[in-house]
Amino acid sequence: SSRVTLGPLVAAIDQGTSSTRFLVFNAKTAELLSHHQVEINQSFPKEGWVEEDPKEILQSVYECMERTCEKLTQLNIDISNIKAIGVTNQRETTLVWDKETGEPLYNAIVWLDLRTQSTVERLINKTPGRNKNHLKHKTGLPISTYFSAVKLRWLMDNVDEVAEAVLTHRAMFGTVDSWLIWVGRTHLFRWDKPNRLFILNVYLHLFLFLTRSFRYFDIPMEILPKVRSSSEIYGLMKSGSLSGIPISGCLGDQSAALVGQMCFQEGQAKNTYGTGCFLLRNTGAKPVMSDHGLITTVAYKLGRDKPACYALEGSVAIAGAVVRWLKDNLGIIQTSTELEKLAASVGTSYGCYFVPAFSGLYAPYWEPSARGIICGLTQFTNKSHLAFAALEAVCFQTREILDAMNQDSGIPLTQLQVDGGMTSNRLLMQLQADILCIPVVKPSMPETTALGAAMAAGAAEGVSVWSLCPEDLSEVTSEKFEPQINPEESEFRYARWKKAVQRAMNWET
Ligand code: ADP
Repeated sequence: SSRVTLGPLVAAIDQGTSSTRFLVFNAKTAELLSHHQVEINQSFPKEGWVEEDPKEILQSVYECMERTCEKLTQLNIDISNIKAIGVTNQRETTLVWDKETGEPLYNAIVWLDLRTQSTVERLINKTPGRNKNHLKHKTGLPISTYFSAVKLRWLMDNVDEVAEAVLTHRAMFGTVDSWLIWVGRTHLFRWDKPNRLFILNVYLHLFLFLTRSFRYFDIPMEILPKVRSSSEIYGLMKSGSLSGIPISGCLGDQSAALVGQMCFQEGQAKNTYGTGCFLLRNTGAKPVMSDHGLITTVAYKLGRDKPACYALEGSVAIAGAVVRWLKDNLGIIQTSTELEKLAASVGTSYGCYFVPAFSGLYAPYWEPSARGIICGLTQFTNKSHLAFAALEAVCFQTREILDAMNQDSGIPLTQLQVDGGMTSNRLLMQLQADILCIPVVKPSMPETTALGAAMAAGAAEGVSVWSLCPEDLSEVTSEKFEPQINPEESEFRYARWKKAVQRAMNWET
């Protein structure tokens, strides 16, 4: 049968918390042509600990790439049309490996892991006035369990292999992107500049943390990856079906979604509902420091000579993770898609509020000692109400960060662009519009994170198949959810939620 002619294609490795995907897009239309997805196992060795196996992550990438290529070939699409590959990944998940052998020195500590709580307390106790925002004016971040620098400090203090590798100058630290690209070089990638093997997303909080406050954490700079822009050729695929193709885009998942949603203008924002939930608003060429519990981050730098663009970010630790919890821990649903039906069967939480503060609370509270709470129970409450309350919890948490963002910028958002795995839940989308009292807009192609990474890869110098002009992408359509309840009802429920949050606070102190 004859080959399908499509013009240039661009691909992305999307290494998320719950799964790895490889996706291939038509560069002209942004249409998703094929993809493959592999679930990633998480282990919970102690309460509050969350780990993943670095080698499983690497292997999953390789498997997804090869399987996607097979699927494309079955569709008669010529894989030699793939011109560039971007990488996007779960941010803050922390890895340390031996640079002589490429062997991991410990499991990956996943971003929502809580083991660093005592490290955080110790660090905060060292600051004048015991202020968790002591470094915020320099780094844009509070001192919190979330960020890689604190996880790295924990590894150096608690894992002998890591401490020794640091002492003997063999330790290499990175997030999943640096791990894939660095260790991948022995299996997957060939490098254009052999002495500069390490890359670090420019977005990365850790870079600011460490370059501006490395003395504070007492971490040697030599173990850090080098900083590169989000869009340039880092290396070429070395083996496999895509051998020779440049890796030329690298963005943290939330930055990639911002690019994939084409939020290139100051003031534009998107919210991504995955394991956690992350609302980013583009603040242009200047970093804006929040007075309302948000963090400041580099959004992207789309080329070596291009300026960095910043964002305000509201990070929520638990969104889709609450669905996984209802499934794996309570067993009230068998699959995440069942949740919608269960919640819709009652259409109300019947006054039940569920604050899933499993990993403390992130934005806007940054309270590691908060713990989950379900309240407002009566004899009448059943699992459907609980399912509904879980969905509402995601919406209320988003409302809290949206309010903070509106206060920080002084310009209220008039609609919210959304994406991520959870947005396939239409009830959630409707509830979100109801609770925010503004429309929620969802692109018909849900893989915006991967699209953003592919766009960055395609736009790199030396590749240039993609112009990053929203007008050029003809196939991007979206669906709009309008608020359907009156604002008083919405405010009433939101006020109740806030009350429930107060009860979840300071549980562990
Ligand atoms: P990540 O990038 O963090 O791995 P994804 O964007 O892949 O996350 O989204 C997966 C998350 O979305 C999972 O936590 C899952 O429980 C949740 N999810 C997926 N489908 C649904 C659904 N229909 N309803 C509710 N939650 C869902």
